[in-house]
Amino acid sequence: MAKKEVVKEKCSFCGRPKGETELLIAGFSAHICDSCVEQAHLIVKEEAGKTKTSQPIFADQLPKPKEIKAHLDEYVIGQDEAKKILSVAVYNHYKRIDQPESKKYKDVEIEKSNIVMVGKTGTGKTLLARTIAKVLHVPFAIVDATVLTEAGYVGEDVESILSKLLQAADYNVESTERGIIFIDELDKIARKSDNPSITRDVSGEGVQQALLKLLEGTDVNVPPQGGRKHPEQKLIKINTKNILFIAGGAFNGIETRIAGRLKTNMLGFGAKKEIGQIDKENLMQYVAPGDLKKYGLIPEIVGRLPILTYLNPLDKDALKRILIEPKNALTKQFGKLFEMDDVELSFADDAIDYIVDKAIEFKIGARGLRSIIEAIMTEAMYEAPSEGKNHKLKITKKYAEDKLENHVITKHKVA
Ligand code: ADP
Repeated sequence: MAKKEVVKEKCSFCGRPKGETELLIAGFSAHICDSCVEQAHLIVKEEAGKTKTSQPIFADQLPKPKEIKAHLDEYVIGQDEAKKILSVAVYNHYKRIDQPESKKYKDVEIEKSNIVMVGKTGTGKTLLARTIAKVLHVPFAIVDATVLTEAGYVGEDVESILSKLLQAADYNVESTERGIIFIDELDKIARKSDNPSITRDVSGEGVQQALLKLLEGTDVNVPPQGGRKHPEQKLIKINTKNILFIAGGAFNGIETRIAGRLKTNMLGFGAKKEIGQIDKENLMQYVAPGDLKKYGLIPEIVGRLPILTYLNPLDKDALKRILIEPKNALTKQFGKLFEMDDVELSFADDAIDYIVDKAIEFKIGARGLRSIIEAIMTEAMYEAPSEGKNHKLKITKKYAEDKLENHVITKHKVA
């Protein structure tokens, strides 16, 4: 008898027997399997998204480029040129989406301008893109170009980029279609050599081709949960015409190409720049679309990323400012953490200098500042919650040195 009941146990929605499910939940007179729960959850979210009044920004509520930049200034140190270019680009992008009728320019359609940012890793590319999306209250997703492959290969399909944005938009299709996607490590899908080879370049040109369609604007059937793990999921159609793509990459070694080009230009007729005028310390600022092509991006991709900007390397002064100035600067974050335990935390100037010097010594830039501070603060974070109330803690250089010296990141110089 008992055996018979086990056989009967199956999902009342899809009919799968218990053995074929991960989990079968029993209700009053029915069962539901894990997969149907997930599906049902998605349907509920999708429906909720449809009824929720999405709040796309319209041209008249759009912050002006100066306001966008001022907001970026609160979170991102330096990078003035990139901030200006980005502010204007996103402003124009959202104006373009809501372009009103114009008598004078009746047949003029403003085209989309996606953006590409070139700059060393950890100089603020992702932070800039993320902050822009926050200012505009639009959904934002980050995807790593290195995990993308052509359909059919192991890895993520290019469509999965849109799954992430759809999730960030809480499954609201309308707001997904006005979102921002940051494609990180674009340089990693560059063609490996200048000659397009006959053998398939799984991670290079094929992916660029697939990406191109998204950048141009197309209808894509998106698996809402992403990936191929859920073949039964219902696909959602997303149009990418109004999605703003911001790509970023370190393009290591591109300076050599830039230098080569500048040198040739300077020697040629009509040379505009004197050798002495060129800032050899920061050649990235002279980056041009042709350099990206030479690096291995197909011309069509470069053409679809018409706004090109660069980020400066971060010097000691910039790293110091990053530690203390931004709205959510690391020192402020730790201050807040300690405040919850009634501890007033402060950092002496020489401690800040020390932390920055270590980040430079370990060559880990802004991204490594957190690991260094974490290493210094671990013991204090362990002790603080048990200390009495109204405690004060000042981090001096000596304190920082003591804590960091025996730490694993100093021993192995990794962070
Ligand atoms: P990238 O995308 O260029 O590799 P990120 O934007 O991810 O670099 O930067 C890594 C981290 O370093 C950020 O989360 C931020 O904490 C810090 N950071 C980097 N550049 C800046 C900057 N210009 N201003 C403020 N913080 C920065």
